[in-house]
Amino acid sequence: MMNDNFSFYMPVRIVSGLGSSKEMSSFVKGENVFIISDPFLFKSGVAKEIGESLAGKTVTYFADVEPNPTCKSVDIASSQARAMKADCVIGIGGGSALDVAKIVACLVTNEGSIYDYYAGGKQKLSSREVTLICIPTTAGTGSEVTNVGVYTDQRVGAKMPMVEELFWPDVAILDDELTFTLPADVTAATGMDAFCHGIEAYWSEASVPISDVLAVEALKLIFGNLRKATLEPNHREARHKMLYASLLSGVAFSQTRTTGVHAVSFPLTTEFNVSHGLACAITLPAFIRISGEKKEEKMARLAKELGYENINTLADAVETLMEEIGLPTRLNELGVTKEDLKHIAEVGLRAPVVHLTPATMNEETLHTLLKTIL
Ligand code: NAD
Repeated sequence: MMNDNFSFYMPVRIVSGLGSSKEMSSFVKGENVFIISDPFLFKSGVAKEIGESLAGKTVTYFADVEPNPTCKSVDIASSQARAMKADCVIGIGGGSALDVAKIVACLVTNEGSIYDYYAGGKQKLSSREVTLICIPTTAGTGSEVTNVGVYTDQRVGAKMPMVEELFWPDVAILDDELTFTLPADVTAATGMDAFCHGIEAYWSEASVPISDVLAVEALKLIFGNLRKATLEPNHREARHKMLYASLLSGVAFSQTRTTGVHAVSFPLTTEFNVSHGLACAITLPAFIRISGEKKEEKMARLAKELGYENINTLADAVETLMEEIGLPTRLNELGVTKEDLKHIAEVGLRAPVVHLTPATMNEETLHTLLKTIL
């Protein structure tokens, strides 16, 4: 029976359209704009072109966001944003740049370092005075519509999400043209990240009816378009649909948070240097196979809706998709050995979202799951 007892909150204005990233001056408040991006988007001219479209504004660029951004980069960017008295922070890039933009927009007017607020920090961000605009250039994280930022604490080598009301962007701009330059491996891995968001939102113990609708639509779009977007990079329709699917999955998991798939991805990324999307995708088929434990009827319905007989054939189809788009499907292909599995399980279990998985999660069950995909 449908749960009619729920709440859903998503305060981000979404603007979608070819070229929309260069037609957004009406959303930019104030004179001083701080653009946060990564080295590729800066060198390729994308970040500059967007900055130059903001006629009459003073624009400063921070181009040094690294994948899995560190707290150190956040603090460097924040001091530059404070120095130029930013009125508006724009993140342009994959999840890494968007996540840095979220916390920097807050730190312009909140004193101190990210460490004062994150991972055991004692202070609470009090308000955000500057406008925050997020422009995704990967089709995967959905960060443009979530109140989550993920940062790597390089002091302890751990990567943790930070959930914060002030992180909801004011505006998310979807301009699919920006994703055409994505290489096949990044298209594939980030697209699977969006798949994980959708399915984790759907099977989460915290799912709500609206997130289910968004998640199912996103999963259909990804099954229908990820192969094309990866193998035919200039396929406009496939690129557009993947960016839209990533957004839908993002809205869905912004309500539910993620689950075991993402929990296990954190040690795979920090300790085995695996990209975020791949670190999630690699365990996905195995998590699908155990999802019937607590969500039997709901997962059977999803399998049917996506065109598969049951959750096992759905898991097989996900594995086939991963193979077709060039992603590994076994942990040993990422350099993980049998001896590493217990530790990965231990670290994964520390993630605050792991209890939302639709199956019993403890050292034994998680270790068993990991052994099946070694
Ligand atoms: P990313 O931002 O780290 O970028 C990966 C690589 O792709 C970089 O080298 C970048 O330069 C390149 N790239 C980006 N756009 C490109 C383009 N259009 N053309 C060519 N190259 C391009 O990767 P990501 O997967 O988008 O983000 C991962 C980060 O986001 C992780 O830290 C992850 O934990 C986080 N994340 C955040 C949320 C959230 O809600 N805040 C959700 C999921 C993931």
